Amino acid sequence: MSNIEILLDSFSDRELAYFYKYRSKQYTKETSKEIENIIFNKRGLSIKKIEKLTKEKISKYGKCPRCASNKNFDYAVEYYPDNIKKLSRYDLKDFSNEIIKKKQKECIICGNIIESPKENQLIKGILTWLNFKCVM
Ligand SMILES: [Zn+2]
Repeated sequence: MSNIEILLDSFSDRELAYFYKYRSKQYTKETSKEIENIIFNKRGLSIKKIEKLTKEKISKYGKCPRCASNKNFDYAVEYYPDNIKKLSRYDLKDFSNEIIKKKQKECIICGNIIESPKENQLIKGILTWLNFKCVM
């Protein structure tokens, strides 16, 4: 079995549908063909079934907000602090010349960035703002 076959074998039909919709085009022509062969012939999905599966409403709590899969991986990305946040929200290390690496989490199935250092800051900012509003 090829690596792509082993990978796709571990996916549910729904995950396969999302993978086809968002990821399969990122591969080389040859691998894309192999992916289509697995999805349509080996697993017996159709375009219609894929559309249905990707439109179904399911609980996404604690999972990927786009495809509801819990298959993800993380890696370090270079991080640069935004210049829009207030001075008081910077960490001292934000001012150093070192390249700061922070964790980014990506969905294997649909490629959605589930957690990124930038988004964390945005959410933190919103939570701070909400907290401030509640106190008033
Ligand atoms: Zn996903």
